[in-house]
Amino acid sequence: MVDSPGDIAELVRATWVVPVGMPALRNAAVWVIEGRIQAVGSFAELDHLCPKTVRRRAFVDSVIFPGFVNAHTHLELGRFAGRVSPNGNLIDWLTRLVAEIGREGSGEQIEQQIADVVQRGVLESLQHGVTCVGDIATSPRVVRPILADGGLLCVSYGEVIAIGNRRHLRDCRLETALTGGIEACGSSNVNKTARPRMRFGLSPHSPYTCEPRTIEFCVQAADPRKWPVCMHLAESPHEHQFTRDGAGPFAEYLKMLGVWDKSVRPTGKSPLELVYSLGVLGSRTLLAHGNYLTAQDAPLLAKTETSIVYCPRTHAAFGHDPHPFRELASKRVNVCVGTDSLVSNPDLSIPAELAYIRRAYPELPAGDLIKMGTSNGARALGFEEYAGTLESGGRADLAVLSLPADGENDDWVSVFDQKLPKVRATMLAGRWVYESRAAR
Ligand SMILES: [Zn+2]
Repeated sequence: MVDSPGDIAELVRATWVVPVGMPALRNAAVWVIEGRIQAVGSFAELDHLCPKTVRRRAFVDSVIFPGFVNAHTHLELGRFAGRVSPNGNLIDWLTRLVAEIGREGSGEQIEQQIADVVQRGVLESLQHGVTCVGDIATSPRVVRPILADGGLLCVSYGEVIAIGNRRHLRDCRLETALTGGIEACGSSNVNKTARPRMRFGLSPHSPYTCEPRTIEFCVQAADPRKWPVCMHLAESPHEHQFTRDGAGPFAEYLKMLGVWDKSVRPTGKSPLELVYSLGVLGSRTLLAHGNYLTAQDAPLLAKTETSIVYCPRTHAAFGHDPHPFRELASKRVNVCVGTDSLVSNPDLSIPAELAYIRRAYPELPAGDLIKMGTSNGARALGFEEYAGTLESGGRADLAVLSLPADGENDDWVSVFDQKLPKVRATMLAGRWVYESRAAR
């Protein structure tokens, strides 16, 4: 890790600067002063404007992007990485994960493990050029203070799970999600200032782990606080059968867990219709996955300004049907990208997710691709004023990535032609917080 003071001024130059929201600039630079972007433009122009005393830094054969946005992860679950690999069956995977969590128990030692893995997740994110994260926490008391200290822009969604005979835990879980760790964030939590670094949110986990009243409770708790809401939705083809008929593999799953009781009832609605009727949809709401949404769902999502986060490599690992993100985006739905947790994904790299999308959908315009990993994610997390683009006055969160070594194609988007794009350096609020040791 390289750590330099954030109050210095620096002119950072690269082969390309991709500001997002305006055209990419060749042979360009970003001028940073005291953690903010002073200007973005051609190097020749900025070199002329910028006082000679300001340090110049050039990245050869490289591209400067805004810091990437990972809109969906569960950093704390990284402790189960490699132990519960996805095998194409979501319910089987959940069963194995829940069993691992149950075996683990609780206590100080576990909390320390959670703290350690979240800390590692923050560092790994920065190594992948990710500077903004939407994280789901079931142990917010442990997770939030670490995220607050990590310096990333972050929404920490406290997770709520309450259904069947476990629904009576509802108030307790909701209380934890609402208050856990907030006080300990102390001065690190600049939630109330004009320039937030961390926000709190709520996540009623899914329609098959939260009864409708619980979901409604969460919405009613989040609303007056202006907290964002994240919910896993339409992740599996079986969810529809569960919400509509109260039957199918998810019903069997709840019975197997021993939580099924008469309170779990069919709603006659699709997962999306159900959450709409409960007031979940809105501009502060992010739906995770949406693998089985269709083009017919797009108007409602667009009208309510609800965002969808697609997790490409996790989606592939479960062998789902092709994701509808292009159909949704073509109807003005905000679609961003996440990694999901290290249990179902090999790493926390958003550049690698974009590279995956580029391989799978080569016809997708480069401008649409980069927005999915930057400005769309910032909007989904409510950080559009602070992240996702490079513009003067904005926070200086930069990701510098290498162009492919063969040098045949030096268009900026060729960065994503590499399976694992190489991050040279990451700047967080004007500080270089990561620099690759690999020389090119
Ligand atoms: Zn998730």
